[in-house]
Amino acid sequence: MTDPVPSRAEIVVDLAAIRHNVRILKDLVTVDAPVQLMVVVKADGYGHGMVEAAEAARDAGADWLGVATIDEALALRAAGDRGPLLSWLSAPGDDFAAAVAAGVEVTAYSVDELQAIGAVGPARVQIKVDTGLSRGGAARADWHDLFATASDLERAGRITVTGIWSHFACSDQPAHPANDQQEAAFREALALAASAGLDPDVTHLANSAATILRPSSHFDLVRCGIAVYGLDPAPGVTPRLGLRPAMTVRARLVLSKPLAAGDGVSYGHTWVADHDTSVGVVPAGYGEGILRTAGNTASVWVEDSLRPIRGRMCMDQFVIDLHGELPPAGTEVVLFGPGDRGEPTAQDWAEAAGTINYEVVTRIGGRLSRRHVDSENGDNEERTR
Ligand SMILES: *Cc1c(COP(=O)(O)O)cnc(C)c1O
Repeated sequence: MTDPVPSRAEIVVDLAAIRHNVRILKDLVTVDAPVQLMVVVKADGYGHGMVEAAEAARDAGADWLGVATIDEALALRAAGDRGPLLSWLSAPGDDFAAAVAAGVEVTAYSVDELQAIGAVGPARVQIKVDTGLSRGGAARADWHDLFATASDLERAGRITVTGIWSHFACSDQPAHPANDQQEAAFREALALAASAGLDPDVTHLANSAATILRPSSHFDLVRCGIAVYGLDPAPGVTPRLGLRPAMTVRARLVLSKPLAAGDGVSYGHTWVADHDTSVGVVPAGYGEGILRTAGNTASVWVEDSLRPIRGRMCMDQFVIDLHGELPPAGTEVVLFGPGDRGEPTAQDWAEAAGTINYEVVTRIGGRLSRRHVDSENGDNEERTR
């Protein structure tokens, strides 16, 4: 499974970290009640590899998997996953029949979608209500008609409504008044659904931040994405849970060379050395999904110290300050990782680049190779080298 030959630039994902995080989250939500855990593996598992992340999550006790698109769900089925699986972002022309045939539960936002799904049924359907995110889901004014249609289709044997759910706008800000409002609106939607005769197996509202910060929002099931990958859904707010970042991005230095005071670095010379130093070239750039806004702001880890990026991020490469040292070509450069050795984390890159950790890991890819290791089973990159 592992490749002992270090690549020029690669993503290394530790599946043991994913399992560890799943177990922590599962323990957290089952302390007081038998809440189920859905692990969200959309967008290629937030850049970690959808199929591998899904397998690790199931191994560690994930009850459900969640994805955005039907195509993602079908890819999981093609890879052999057979467990409870929900998709939630359909677009006109999507193949509901294929989803239903594969045992995927699909989400309906509207009467039209319910009818399209019912036409290829009998289908297991979840209904999404908009409680205040103002994104997907049925607007409050449409709840009554939607539930009535669902109930009719259920009686006709075309669908079974297995879930009713919604999604938070501000769960990373626990004191934001929208959280209470959304939870209250969700309870109203559930009451209305019950009065229409619906009796779903699961109701759910919480993402990672709400899972950790708002137990009242757990209902029957929580949907965790970012926390499963070991990143903090609400930096500065989340208590320490011992989550472990699963992704490391590393490269091999292409060259190092001296730089004289007054020399400008990279396109536009946005950084000019004010003293003699040395620089190194790292062979990865925005073509690999490394954020261009990390130019002049983020740092990497070389030979046990932080080395700042100098100048603009390029498509294929960037330049780092080596502070006068000249490590040989081939020296390991860690862009980010779990932080154990002092290397930057995805969160550090997010702060440097003006974004969130979600974007840092999800965008990474391009020409980077990706390798899965399992540090719990002796399949540790340090040992295989
Ligand atoms: C992406 C997503 C999640 C997971 O959110 P995290 O903040 O990563 O835990 C949960 N529910 C829905 C509907 C999503 O789109």
